[in-house]
Parts: sequence; structure tokens; C-alpha cells
Amino acid sequence: MENVVVIGGGPAGLSAAIYLARAGLSPLVFAGSPPGGQLTLTSEVENFPGHDSILGSELIEKMRKQAQRFGAKIVDENVFKVDFSKRPFEVFVSESTKIFSQDQLASRLSSGSVAPRSSSPNEGSLRRSLAQTTDFRKNFVSSLAVIIATGAKALWLNVPGEQELRGKGVSACATCDGFFFKDKVVAVVGGGDTAMEEALTLTKFAKKVYIIHRRDSFRASKIMQERVFSNKKIEVIWNAQVVEVMGKNHLEGIKIKSTYGKNLPQFKILAVDGLFVAIGHKPDTEIFAGQVELDEKGYVITAQRLAMELAKLKSKNEKIKMTIENEKLEKIVEKFDFNYQMITSVPGVFAAGDCVDYVYRQAATAAGMGVSAALEVERWLENFKTD
Ligand code: NAP
Repeated sequence: MENVVVIGGGPAGLSAAIYLARAGLSPLVFAGSPPGGQLTLTSEVENFPGHDSILGSELIEKMRKQAQRFGAKIVDENVFKVDFSKRPFEVFVSESTKIFSQDQLASRLSSGSVAPRSSSPNEGSLRRSLAQTTDFRKNFVSSLAVIIATGAKALWLNVPGEQELRGKGVSACATCDGFFFKDKVVAVVGGGDTAMEEALTLTKFAKKVYIIHRRDSFRASKIMQERVFSNKKIEVIWNAQVVEVMGKNHLEGIKIKSTYGKNLPQFKILAVDGLFVAIGHKPDTEIFAGQVELDEKGYVITAQRLAMELAKLKSKNEKIKMTIENEKLEKIVEKFDFNYQMITSVPGVFAAGDCVDYVYRQAATAAGMGVSAALEVERWLENFKTD
């Protein structure tokens, strides 16, 4: 049985793995397939402390090596099911995953059907430890504790040219990429708080920022809307949708279509250097539905998030927006152990990174949350074992 399984191989999961491994807990990380999360899809990362500029994929590779050096076991497989209804918890991986029992592995090695591989110095010990700890017949891993760090995906417009020009002018993160658009013209798509935040961030760099929204009013909070309306660099294009992203090697412009008016459809080409899609994110948490408490958008609710919501409720300040309904708050509050910040509604299951954080969504914040979760798992296991 494992001490702790980490589900997710992005900055949250790997930072947790580094701390857990250094604490001697030899965590088993299911890093996903393909592994690495959103960072591997970005190009240069310039805002991760300690690195002037580094490729997202390189940063992930360094974190993996660092975790493995201290004894973390990393398997690049997707978890497709979990059972947190009993302890130890069960984490299921694909049936095609080659996880062998100790005996099976020994017989396959001696018969030559499995060649001892030499690609990674850690692989032999990884296979041995998996073999010792895993029920190969059912393809699940039993564990005393779990950290959920499955991340989130940005939603995209799914229009021609968008994916081809990602990293070449098209982005979903102004904090990450805004710096590259000094004195340029950019457009943000969306009408929620994220779009407002992205547009305001971009005004620090770009000379002009369009916000393109499909309706005639924003859903963003009033205060954010006011900030946008009072910023002279921002121009809102209402009732419009981007239908094509244009450019060969870099973004040159976008084709927009009117969604309201007499003579529809009307098309227009807008010359922009950058396009920031801010139409929401989707946390990768489907497999945890019914296992831990999620909010209505699917983000994992931790004790820290719940405490914030309860504090907001108590403050009775109408300007502060609740993100979990009062009725739900009351129903779930008793399930949480407020001795821990990153704990979920299930004792022993913790969560970190973008599957929890709907606000900041940065590699560095995800890493920090992963560290907090790891330290809490360590404390939780100590208490659990002495109980
Ligand atoms: P959101 O509130 O769901 O807003 C998404 C926006 O994108 C909406 O305006 C929507 O238009 C538009 N949209 C969706 N699909 C589209 C498409 N295919 N084409 C064009 N437009 C599309 O998402 P969010 O802004 O990411 O915010 C998510 C949550 O995080 C919210 O609860 C928000 O308050 C919160 N948040 C808080 C902060 C903060 O507190 N600082 C910062 C960021 C986010 P419609 O309006 O027409 O549906």
C-alpha cells in the first residue's frame, strides 16, 4: 500500500511530490498521459521564480527529475476512477498500464519476455516498488492519502487558425504572455471577471486593448466592469464573435462577426498582434464527482476555500461575491476538517493547483499549493498513524 498517491503531473503535483519524497514518504505520482499539464503547452515561462526564461516543458522536466532524485515514483498514466468511500483509498489506472506483481515481474524477466530497460536509472526501482504495492489484477493502487492535482484546461473558441497560432500571438493568459505585447494592439474575448482582469493586465503593456463580447452586457462583477470602462486604453466591441484567427507564422488579425443588428451577418477584420481568449476554464475533475465536494463549475472545494466563503457570508458585505451557494455551504461544512487548509471533504484527500484555484491559475501559485498540500499530508499521516 502507498502512503500517498498524487494524481497530476503539473507544477502542483510535482512540487507536492518533491516535498513528500524529501519527507521519506516515497509518493506515487500518476502524471497523466501525455504528462505535464498546461505548462507543457506554453512556450517561454518568464515568471517562475528563479528562472529568467525557461520553456514550460523544460521546467516540468526539471521538476520531475528533482522529485525522482528524492525517491518519487512517476508513472505517465491517466487515472480513470477513484474510490474514496473507504480507506485505504483506491486509485484506478488504465488496464493497459503495465503494472506487474513481484512474482509476475520476476518470471517475465527470467523468461526474457521483459527486457531489463536501461532508459532511466529510476525505472528499475519504480517497477519494483509498483510491483510491491499494487494489486495488478484489478489495476488499482491502494493508498492512505491522496493529493488531487489534475489542473484545468482553458476553454477555446474552436475557430479556424486559433490552435495553429497558439504561442504565436494567441494565448489564454495575460499574466504569462502580456509582456510580449509592449506597445502592440491586442484583443480579449469574453465578458466575465477573467476577461476584465486580462484586459486590465494587458493595458500595462499594450497600447490598445479591445474586448470582444458576444452580448451587450458583461457578466463580470460591477467593480471590475467599472475599472474596465474607466480605462482609456480599452475599447469594447459588443455583440460580436470571433469567427477566424488569421496569420501564417504569427497572428495578423481576427475576423469578427456581428451577433446583433438588422443586416446580419456582418463581418469585419480587425488587425491585432495578440488575441487573449478568456471565456472560462474547465477543471479536470470529472472523475472526482460524487467522491469529494466540487463547486458548480467542478472546482474541488478545500477547507481554505470554504473558510473564505463562510467569512464572506459573515461579513455581510454585498459587494463581495459568493462563489458557493449559501445552501450548499451549510450542507457541506461539517465534512471538512479545518485543521488543514488543502483538505477536501474527505479526510485524507487533499487538493492543490488549478483544479482548486479559479482565481490566480499560475504555475508558481500551483506549485505553492502543492507544497502546502504535501506538508499537510505529512502531518495528517502522522496523526492518522498515531490515532
Ligand atoms: P465566466 O464567468 O464563465 O465567463 C465566461 C465569459 O466568456 C462569459 O462572458 C461568456 O459569455 C463568454 N463566453 C463563453 N463561451 C464563449 C464563446 N464560445 N464565445 C465567446 N464568448 C464566450 O468565466 P471567467 O470569467 O473565467 O470566471 C470564472 C469564475 O471565476 C467566475 O465565478 C468569476 O467571478 C471568477 N473569477 C474571479 C476573479 C476574481 O475574483 N478576481 C477573477 C477571475 C475569475 P456570456 O456572458 O454571453 O455567457
